[in-house]
Amino acid sequence: MAASETLALDVRRLRAEFPVLTRQVGPGVPLIYLDSAATSQKPRAVIQAMSSFYEKHNSNIHRGIHALAEEATEAYEAARARVAQFVHAGDPRSLIFTRNTTEAINLVAHTWARMALGPGDMILLTEMEHHSNLVPWQMLAAEKGLVLEFVPVTDAGLLDLDVYSSLLSRGPRLVAFSHMSNVLGTINPVGQMTAAAHAAGAKVLIDAAQSVPHLPVDVEDLEVDFMAFSGHKMCGPTGVGVLYGRLELLEAMPPFLGGGDMIKRVHLRSFVANDVPHKFEAGTPAIAEAIGLGAAVDFLTSVGMPAVRQAEETLVGYALDRLAEVPGVRVLGPEAEQRGGVASFTFEGIHPHDIAQLLDRQGIAVRAGHHCAMPLHERYGVPATTRASFYLYNTTEEIDSLIAGLYKVKEIFN
Ligand code: PMP
Repeated sequence: MAASETLALDVRRLRAEFPVLTRQVGPGVPLIYLDSAATSQKPRAVIQAMSSFYEKHNSNIHRGIHALAEEATEAYEAARARVAQFVHAGDPRSLIFTRNTTEAINLVAHTWARMALGPGDMILLTEMEHHSNLVPWQMLAAEKGLVLEFVPVTDAGLLDLDVYSSLLSRGPRLVAFSHMSNVLGTINPVGQMTAAAHAAGAKVLIDAAQSVPHLPVDVEDLEVDFMAFSGHKMCGPTGVGVLYGRLELLEAMPPFLGGGDMIKRVHLRSFVANDVPHKFEAGTPAIAEAIGLGAAVDFLTSVGMPAVRQAEETLVGYALDRLAEVPGVRVLGPEAEQRGGVASFTFEGIHPHDIAQLLDRQGIAVRAGHHCAMPLHERYGVPATTRASFYLYNTTEEIDSLIAGLYKVKEIFN
């Protein structure tokens, strides 16, 4: 049985699950959505899970003794268990619902790192990080006198692993890096980098905002200490994200935000924190959104993550080949085997915002700018790029439309 047979996606059938993909963005102009790295579209199953919660079960969780409160609590905790299973976390308590990746990383900065790190301690990051894996560490470094170091990115868009090794020999306390770059698409060798970081005595946090939606990810196999990702990039709703943490670390960490639900007991001048994961979920959480994320992982599981990865590798390989045909286009980042479904490029003499605007008139949604990775753009000496990003519902015909669109842009600018 050939692997390509087992893993092939029925894209036409999949597309029918995403209502927004049938719309037009102008008279006779169908939507071509190539912006899934910013946020993915949502399948009917997710939309229905959320509206069914509001129509039939809506209640606050964990506090009520009535039927709806019990149903809502059960659905919320069942979603936690399903998301845990999706990333192969053995114990659902190691999964904390946050608002998004950004909040998950800030949670670790405010709790574990603030508790464990002191003046002169080093945090090792990389030049390809999203601002959400830079700024929280810059803020904490300023507060606590920490030292930040950065693994450089090679011209080919890969992390320089020789420099990584030598920086590890300086004894960082934390290594924090993205599993997959949202600009270059680079898929970093997390298992290898984590083993080396642990051997050097560091804890490891991975920003999995772009990997969990697009590749099979097994946290226990990768042996990371913390992992952050967002529901909205993986067919789920906005407003819910996840922090995975190794249970013994989470148990030893102080709480993040203070308030209801994160406590066992409160006195006028003191409190006793709740158990993990509730210790980190103060206040009423995004209940319907967590349930929507549960439906999203069911959807992705039914499609099969190895098949999603294989389809995206094919799509991005096709996109790289076709973009290479367009004179003046330069794509940043590595070959398809080492990259997820992202192609960021410059187009000689034409500003990315102009490109995005002219493509939009043809119904093609791409993103232009620094994609929340200004230092990475500085590294390549470009202020901005145009980014096309793909997901399980995209087709090679849509990439053909992108290429035709770019030729039209060129005509307008010539
Ligand atoms: N890290 C990476 C690699 C991302 O692509 C993004 C989203 N663009 C984030 C972090 C932040 O995600 P969110 O805005 O959902 O917090």
